[in-house]
Amino acid sequence: MIRALLALLLLAGARAQGLEIHERPLPWDEQRRALTVDYLSRHRTAALTGDAEVDTRMTPRVVVLHWTAGSTAASAWNTFAPARLGGRPELQAAGALNVGAHYLVDRDGTIWRLFPDEVVLRHVIGLNHLAIGIENVGGGERWPLTEAQVQANATLVRDLAARHPLTHLVGHFEAERLRGHPYFEERDPGYRSAKADPGDAFMAAVRAALSDLGLQGPPEPAAPGG
Ligand SMILES: [Zn+2]
Repeated sequence: MIRALLALLLLAGARAQGLEIHERPLPWDEQRRALTVDYLSRHRTAALTGDAEVDTRMTPRVVVLHWTAGSTAASAWNTFAPARLGGRPELQAAGALNVGAHYLVDRDGTIWRLFPDEVVLRHVIGLNHLAIGIENVGGGERWPLTEAQVQANATLVRDLAARHPLTHLVGHFEAERLRGHPYFEERDPGYRSAKADPGDAFMAAVRAALSDLGLQGPPEPAAPGG
């Protein structure tokens, strides 16, 4: 009995080992809330209409992994800080809400929490109303994502899965394949973007570390000509 308890305690310790989340909060203020309501009203097919308030809080079901395509955590934090989108005319047309992410993982594996898990942010077409976003500093050929980032993402997603009813883990480049899934809500069928982040190799490595969780990926792409 005692031996079983000890084994359980050791297991719990191992599970939590290595997870340290540093708080680096960005403001969730009235402006960001209002711009989020505007964004959701334009895009969600099931958005409430009339007098009812659009819900800017969510129950996370999906985690989407990204890369920033920049070299420092500070530049990413500064990019996400304003409530209103700066530049990026291709995104402006779809709403003035700035992009954001709930977590930022630095190149050495340091995890920064920018927003609470339950607030809706703009980081992935069609899934923002139920998806937590994790951004990784770096990306592409210039700053390949690191082994420390693989480990940090795996540890963080494991923790998120223990705290929320998650069903899916997807890379940003895979999110389009959820079009047609009940989770996916986008009123404008032409609102799409081609993404490469965070790459096949990174997703494969993170998934390998989390295979016991049973999180689903995106559906397989349709066979060409099929
Ligand atoms: Zn992305």
